[in-house]
Amino acid sequence: MPVKSFPDISTPLKDQKPISIFWFRRDLRIEDNTALTKALDSNIPVLPIFIFDSHILNELPKDDARVAFIHRSILKIKDSLKAHGSDILCLYGDPKSVWLELISKFKVAKVYTNKDYEPYAIARDKEIAELLGKKDITFNSFKDQVIFEEDEILKSNQEPYTVFTPYKNKWLTKFQEANPIEPKNPKLNNLYKANYTTMSLEDIGFTKSEIEVKDFNLSRLHLYGDKRDFPYADITSYLSTHLRFGTIGIRQIISRIDKSNAVFLSELIWREFFMQILFHYPKVVTENFRSKYDNIKWRNNKQEFLLWCQGKTGYPMVDAGMRQLNTTGFMHNRVRMITAGFLCKHLLIDWRWGESYFAEKLLDYELSSNNGNWQWAAGTGCDAAPYFRIFNPLSQQQKFDKDYKYVRKWIPEFDTFEYPDPIVEHKFARERALAAYKSGIEA
Ligand code: FAD
Repeated sequence: MPVKSFPDISTPLKDQKPISIFWFRRDLRIEDNTALTKALDSNIPVLPIFIFDSHILNELPKDDARVAFIHRSILKIKDSLKAHGSDILCLYGDPKSVWLELISKFKVAKVYTNKDYEPYAIARDKEIAELLGKKDITFNSFKDQVIFEEDEILKSNQEPYTVFTPYKNKWLTKFQEANPIEPKNPKLNNLYKANYTTMSLEDIGFTKSEIEVKDFNLSRLHLYGDKRDFPYADITSYLSTHLRFGTIGIRQIISRIDKSNAVFLSELIWREFFMQILFHYPKVVTENFRSKYDNIKWRNNKQEFLLWCQGKTGYPMVDAGMRQLNTTGFMHNRVRMITAGFLCKHLLIDWRWGESYFAEKLLDYELSSNNGNWQWAAGTGCDAAPYFRIFNPLSQQQKFDKDYKYVRKWIPEFDTFEYPDPIVEHKFARERALAAYKSGIEA
């Protein structure tokens, strides 16, 4: 367990000049960071902080690779700030208590941060803004993790879009109008001069993980349109974890890619589409987007769920995907679609079970994208595949990994008798799923 929530701060600050605080969260970079740039544009020295939120950390395994990645990213930020005589102050605990302590130790004039659209974050920020407001400290939050947020892309009747294609078209039109969306450069000479000891991973109760986050790679995107669906080709960008934690900004990415690469841009727009769905319909966290599916009778067989988690269903594409996930914290998108569809349709297991398994394992776990895609796969979501469209995992195999290269990479015993027979026969499972969905809708 962590020993100290608050490091020693050498100078008591009651007599000091006012400072601004910039609060890093899911924007772990200095360049192209909207709120940091805004904070530094004012003439008050800026102290950057990060809070290891005990509410979030308490839920995670102690060797969680994402926490190690956050910690490593903070150390990188620290190095960059040091070059300017400044530092990042790392704190641990319940954010409200941490803020109370911060404002008792510093003369804080303003707080700057980038917006986070998840329900927990919205509630936390509201509470902190109120707490600061009572001390006349302004809480300034900015759009940063998306090109368009909240109500910026709405239908002409001012309602949110729930279908992707018209959302994307509006997004693209607005994007062309808003161009150029330039990355922002911070004025680092306005940082608060400081020097802190940064808590180690062990200080916050964690250890290093075996799993590492891969660097992103934009160099193969000219192949994206043709090859993105073939898992063995491995040409996708690996941006997802970096976008999740903000180790690169969305504007930086867009300024670097070929804008005529419509297929790739479209994927980035899916990310924003699901973010605005979560923002407008927070009920999706626990409920079907479409309530007409509420009466589906899931089988929820625990033994079958376990075999799915372990990659032992006897369906090679499903098993390879689950093993890639368990080993690396990543799974190729096409295979995510196949494994998710298989769990919901072939095994008739509630999409929420699969969603939470992915949430535990994915390095790039993002509530909005994970939830949106799971509900898409289950057929319960907005703009979802119709429930009667059921992937055949064997024909998906023939189409996207016909030489079994991906499968053999992740299933070493694939060509031996050790590899299990299919957990359920495809045709039978398909009929069973169709019947369960149909009677669920009619119930
Ligand atoms: P690329 O193919 O290079 O795509 C570039 C970026 O576009 C991605 O990094 C991501 O930000 C965005 N993107 C691509 N596809 C989607 C999509 N279908 N929905 C939303 N955004 C997309 N993505 C997550 O970031 N976090 C999740 O928790 C997550 N859970 C998923 C669960 C299921 C069941 C499925 C089917 C998909 C999920 N995805 C999730 C979407 C997608 O699989 C990953 O974003 C992608 O595989 C990440 O690899 P990449 O960065 O190389 O992607």
